[in-house]
This record gives sequence, structure tokens and C-alpha cells, in this order.
Amino acid sequence: MGDLGFAIPSYYLYVVFFTTGLAIGSFLNVCIYRLPLGLSIVRPASHCPKCDKPIAFWQNIPIFSYIVLRGKCYYCGQRISLRYPFVELLNGVFYAFAFHRFGLTYYSLFYVVLLSALIVITFIDIDHQIIPDVITIPGVVIGLVAASVILPDLYGYGGVLGFTWSVVGLLVGGGIFYVIAVVSKGGMGGGDIKLMAMLGAMFGWKYVLMTIFIGSLTGSIYGLALMVFKGKDRKTKVPFGPFLAAASVVALFYGRDMLMLYLGLSD
Ligand SMILES: [Zn+2]
Repeated sequence: MGDLGFAIPSYYLYVVFFTTGLAIGSFLNVCIYRLPLGLSIVRPASHCPKCDKPIAFWQNIPIFSYIVLRGKCYYCGQRISLRYPFVELLNGVFYAFAFHRFGLTYYSLFYVVLLSALIVITFIDIDHQIIPDVITIPGVVIGLVAASVILPDLYGYGGVLGFTWSVVGLLVGGGIFYVIAVVSKGGMGGGDIKLMAMLGAMFGWKYVLMTIFIGSLTGSIYGLALMVFKGKDRKTKVPFGPFLAAASVVALFYGRDMLMLYLGLSD
């Protein structure tokens, strides 16, 4: 099901997925920097933030250029953050792993888009403590459409049933966080609510619950560790988005296995 119907050796496809992921990762860096500032993500071409010189093609090759330039601007020597090659590599690994897990299927094509969106959300949330609507709101729509029209076999439903399944996920994911936001009087941001609505629309209620569970657990452990080891108090703001995004990646790749294990079933 969902097979695209090509016959290409798999090692070749790993390379294709990985390098495509690297190249798109380079674009994700642009999105992470520019989206929260309200700047266009297409214009102007990338330039050094210090000396303003445009970055030539050969200085913009994922990973490779960072190594060749030894992490510095070619013109002025300004340090380039290690985050740039890291984001590229992470996206490349995610793409290769999506292929490993879901093969050459519509699932993979759908999930790589989601994985890239999650990377952008994570780093923007770390930098600015916001999760941009321009990602999550289209994400909700994509989830609803994918579940009902584009990917009728993605969840084994499709049609009206798939749409309903997606809406239920949306309401469970967004609803739980909405209630937390109301009860905690602003302890939860609107961005987190929309992120969970998006994941619910894409994953369905089971995996979104799993995401909330893993995300809350790891987020709490991190918060506690900050208090114990860094002497932060309980008022310290820890962005929740990165934990939810990471948890959803775990649910995406291993959710089915974990459910099987939990229910005492095996494949
Ligand atoms: Zn420079």
C-alpha cells in the first residue's frame, strides 16, 4: 500500500533521501532565521550577518562548506554557528530514516515534510519562545486533507472516515492543551495548542496522546534537572515545543512498536 512503484536499488535511495534532506536542511536554516523576523524566505539570497557579503554557491553546500570554511565567513572570519551544519545533518538523517522506516511510499514523502516542519518549529521555539502559525495552521489543513483525500491508505481509513479520524486527533491534541492553557492561566502558549492540533490531525488520537505523554515526561525531567543542577526556580520558562516535537518524532518512528509492546502484541 502506498507504494510508488519504482524499482531502484535501496542503497541508492538512501543516498537520494539523505542528500535531499541535507539540501532542504540548508533551506530550513533560512526559515529558522527569517520566519520569526517576518522576513521573506526567498529573497534576498543568503549573506553574512556581519559583513553582508553574499554567500557564494560553493560556500553554501551543506556540511561540506562548513568544513572547508572551518566554520568561518570566507570574507570577514565571522564564526558560523555549529547549528547550521547540525540542522542540515539532522534533516538528512531524518529523511534517510524515513525511507528506512516507510520505504519509497507516500508515507515517506508526507513524513519528511512533517519532520522538516518540526525541526523549524523546534529551533524557532528555542530562539524566540514562539511557534509560528504559518507552519502549524497549514499543517492542520494538510493533516485533514491527507487523512481524507491524498493518502486514503495512510491510516487505513481515507474518505469520510479518515477525515473524522483526523478531526478527532485534532480535537484531542489541541483540546488537551487548550484545557491546560485555561486551567494554568497562560502557562501554555497558543503556539503549543496549535502544534498539538496539527500533530493530532496528522497522527490521530492514539499517537498524539503518546506524544503528549513522552513530551511532558522528558520536558518535566529537563525542568527538574535545571532546578536541581542549575539552581533555576520554578518560574524559569522552558519552551515546551522542542520536547513535543521530539516526542512526536519518536511516536512517528516507534509509536506502532511501542503500542504493540504496551498491548502485549507482536507483529
Ligand atoms: Zn562575513
